Amino acid sequence: MEKTADFHLHSRYSRAVSSQMTLPVMAEWALVKGIDILGTGDFTHPLWFKELKENLTGENGIYKIKEKNIPVSFLLSAEISSIYSQGGRTRRVHNILLASSFEKAAMFNAALLKRKVNLFSDGRPITGLSSYELLKIFKEIDEKGLFIPAHIWTPWFSLFGANSGFDSLVECFGDMSEHIVAVETGLSSDPLMNWFFKDLKGKGIVSFSDAHSPANLGRELTVVEVDKLDFSSIAQALSGGAGISNTIEFYPEEGKYHYTGHRNCRVIQKPEETKRLGTICPVCGKPLTIGVMHRVEQLSGEIKKPKYEEDDVGLRWVKDEGRPPFISLVPLAEIIAEANGLEKSSKKVLSIYQNLVRKFGNELLILTKTRAEDISTFAGEKLAEGITKVRKGDIYIRPGFDGEYGKVKVWPEKEEKKTAFQEGLF
Ligand SMILES: [Zn+2]
Ligand SMILES: [Zn+2]
Ligand SMILES: [Zn+2]
Repeated sequence: MEKTADFHLHSRYSRAVSSQMTLPVMAEWALVKGIDILGTGDFTHPLWFKELKENLTGENGIYKIKEKNIPVSFLLSAEISSIYSQGGRTRRVHNILLASSFEKAAMFNAALLKRKVNLFSDGRPITGLSSYELLKIFKEIDEKGLFIPAHIWTPWFSLFGANSGFDSLVECFGDMSEHIVAVETGLSSDPLMNWFFKDLKGKGIVSFSDAHSPANLGRELTVVEVDKLDFSSIAQALSGGAGISNTIEFYPEEGKYHYTGHRNCRVIQKPEETKRLGTICPVCGKPLTIGVMHRVEQLSGEIKKPKYEEDDVGLRWVKDEGRPPFISLVPLAEIIAEANGLEKSSKKVLSIYQNLVRKFGNELLILTKTRAEDISTFAGEKLAEGITKVRKGDIYIRPGFDGEYGKVKVWPEKEEKKTAFQEGLF
């Protein structure tokens, strides 16, 4: 059976996270989004961990909310930020941990406390332990658990990040590298950008939302094929990617660090421009923030053109032999807002969104399975056209850079602006 999974997200005990990130609200939104299994996020936080223990019930590492009868499962997930020095440089790497049971998670938390990690400070704690040490401690306690480097290309806090990361898995994880069986692409990269880096050969390429609020849950997802819904089956599906059916992606250009640049100097460069012009800002003379695309090309070489295949609702699948395919989507609320000339956060957009979900099941079904004719009949031709355009990838994107999110438009603002938009100039 296929299950949609989102294992990277945060509870309200993490900094800059919505107070709405509680178990019942997360589960209700998972239903609306079309997510079958959620990570709990933040199992290292003592107060959140206590809440999880009190409110979840289940076995074999898969849990449900007690007495609620909501058909959404949870597994124990956390993210840890390691800040340490290695090879004469400061390294900042985020890693996601999936624990196989409450017992193992509790043992791991105790091991961190023993090493004086301040688990109370943040749902995503910061430690001076290296990624290597962390992996070793985790695997010694929880052999079945998964340790997944998070959003591996972002410049500041990731395994391969241009500013404080590494050039290879072995440089970071040494003799423990074989225990890295999957990596997270993050919002700024998609699987295609990861397919040509030799270090990632044979690794599961997974996508999760890193949501800090319920409405962002499932904005990226991994769909797994499992016989049984237990921790071991899910871990096995992610390991090496063998049981991954497909992943659902953001347009990587929408991420905050896609291109190289300086936000304050309004300098933005494509990889080929960076190659030609170098990495010093022509305005302020300081080093530019290297974008994910440039960094990927640095380590992988050329990104080859993929095969595209449209399915019967016009959804464009990106394919390569022997790998799970993927699709790139735009959140439904954004398409509704643009189709109606409204703000994404407006009440009207929410009400159209809720009506659609009530009618067609969930957001994922609406974006990927519902026939355009049915959407048109129910919610108007313009929205149906927007969803069809998104499915085909017929949209306009201004790439993000230096911490500024990219922007996606389903329809160009004015025809003549179309090129400027695509070039990132508007
Ligand atoms: Zn992170
Ligand atoms: Zn995170
Ligand atoms: Zn500058």
